[in-house]
Amino acid sequence: MPFPALAARVAEVRQRIDASRARGGHGQPVEIVAVTKTYGPEAATAAWDVGIRRVGENRVQEALEKIDAVNVPVEWHLIGHLQRNKVRALERFALLHSLDSARLADAVHATGERLGKGIDVLVQVNASGEGSKGGFALAEVEAEAERLRPMHGLVVRGVMTMAPLDADERTLRETFAGAREARRLLADAGHPAVELSMGMSNDFEIAVEEGATMVRLGTILFGARSA
Ligand SMILES: *Cc1c(COP(=O)(O)O)cnc(C)c1O
Repeated sequence: MPFPALAARVAEVRQRIDASRARGGHGQPVEIVAVTKTYGPEAATAAWDVGIRRVGENRVQEALEKIDAVNVPVEWHLIGHLQRNKVRALERFALLHSLDSARLADAVHATGERLGKGIDVLVQVNASGEGSKGGFALAEVEAEAERLRPMHGLVVRGVMTMAPLDADERTLRETFAGAREARRLLADAGHPAVELSMGMSNDFEIAVEEGATMVRLGTILFGARSA
């Protein structure tokens, strides 16, 4: 069986999530999104076998190949940057975590209208202000929330953010609290924004303390990636 340690790792991670939830006091449900990028389809199947129901991929092409190769009914999430000429692929995903620009929002909305449904998305915020990271600055969220309001080809389910690598605890907390604030702005504008996708293998406990409802975990579940 591939990933023999997975069941034990998931059990340990769930315990750490529960402890973080208790410390944080937000009382939110927390789902694990198992990030299978660079691993084969067997990683998604192994995740399903230990009770995980959501799988995240950051590249469209790699994801589509895996989706075709996996027989268990996991929910596929796209967590990486999506090029506007590939929005059609969203038909195959349950949730886009990385709505990172107004132009992408326009393209997703148009695709949703064509498909006759609202495509579920999270607005990616660059809460740390790092130049290298995609997403909306916090200062842009309120206006974008207004702009997105009449766009029924997409449904804003919440916010996603990524903290800077190797950030200290204070920076992590500021980043995650900023994402929480962005979710509030979206909800105040009338969007059904309840999800907070934040926290990866190295910072998920602080993210959960700060209110994360989805943690995106790769390395801690499947081991270090070679690519
Ligand atoms: C790879 C990736 C993750 C998971 O990272 P790990 O550190 O391996 O847990 C989470 N989110 C995004 C957007 C990613 O690309």
